[in-house]
Amino acid sequence: MPYLTAPEALESLLPGEPRYRVDQVREWLYRHPVLTAGEMTNLPRELRESLAPRLWPMRVEAEHVGDGGKTVKWLFRTPDGAAVEAVLMGYPRRTTLCISSQAGCAMRCTFCATGQFGFERHLQAGEIVAQVAYANAHLRAHPMEGAPPRVGNVVFMGMGEPLANYDNVREAIRRIIEVMGMSARAVTVSTVGITPGIDRLAREPWPVTLALSLHAADDHLREQLVPQNRRYPIDDLLAAARRFGDSHGRRVSLEWTLMADVNDGADQARALAAIALELGAHVNIIPMNPNPLSPQRRPTAERTRRFVDEVIRHGATATLRDTRGTDIDAACGQLRVRAATEGAPMGSPRNKVPAQDRAESPSNP
Ligand code: SAH
Repeated sequence: MPYLTAPEALESLLPGEPRYRVDQVREWLYRHPVLTAGEMTNLPRELRESLAPRLWPMRVEAEHVGDGGKTVKWLFRTPDGAAVEAVLMGYPRRTTLCISSQAGCAMRCTFCATGQFGFERHLQAGEIVAQVAYANAHLRAHPMEGAPPRVGNVVFMGMGEPLANYDNVREAIRRIIEVMGMSARAVTVSTVGITPGIDRLAREPWPVTLALSLHAADDHLREQLVPQNRRYPIDDLLAAARRFGDSHGRRVSLEWTLMADVNDGADQARALAAIALELGAHVNIIPMNPNPLSPQRRPTAERTRRFVDEVIRHGATATLRDTRGTDIDAACGQLRVRAATEGAPMGSPRNKVPAQDRAESPSNP
């Protein structure tokens, strides 16, 4: 399984091969990934044949194409049966890949489909890197019109909480930057807010971007959306984000999933703007992608616009994020929805959201 082996240790997979062969294989795997070993044209046939069955540490169970070809979602399956999902989004001048750091997730955010299934297992570094390599190989074989032929941005916004799988995520980031050659700023680690993990990440040598999934400007509301907030309340989180921002001037952004009558009122907008200004952080507003397991809903377009305007009016910079992949259940927080509603063999929802968890914002009765 080449991607599970650290690139520096690839020779263990190629016993008796000369050094330059190992370098050639590493080049194919990490710099010019291909979908089949047969395409590794400068390797002898026997070596290609022996590599072929070991190329990917997981098989592609499904590929869904949406948004007229601009969004592709993959469901990968590891040999032990864990589901891994990644979503590739092509834009006019960039491509962004959303990857998973865990199979399932233990954070239980009430508006997220993945959170309702619970935790399956951590992904190994190689299983994380293989998602990037696979997307690069796919882009080479099937260029997206107008988009670059390589993954330009990697965001840890698929399944899982990256900072809860720290060592594997760290090693994956190292391979993505140092071996694949991506820039650290093109890598975004999105977290629910695990403060010791944020502090560890700040001490790493790579200036990656940190995205904090805030969603609420006060602890009372945030606890209802992000149970993890009881352990790491907002003040602690913001202090860690500030320390992260101070280390080598790394950027922090705030994610805000906008939910109708929950966190889309003027009071929250004002408080969010104040937090963003104090942190010097950019705000990304994501209209909630509804899923059958969560009680929250998406606000109207007008209400969404008003919220964004209100944040900006109070001096913060904010972007309304487009929601890609809704037609193929590939949008944020929607991964695994199909399995949830059809009872497919990807696990079953662990808990129904109790009525008292239906968050009501005091400012929006
Ligand atoms: N655990 C990490 C990364 C995975 S979630 C985190 O929480 O940041 C990636 C982003 O998608 C987070 O900002 C999360 O809050 C958001 N998200 C989850 N469910 C969503 C939904 N139903 N609609 C819109 N965004 C959602």
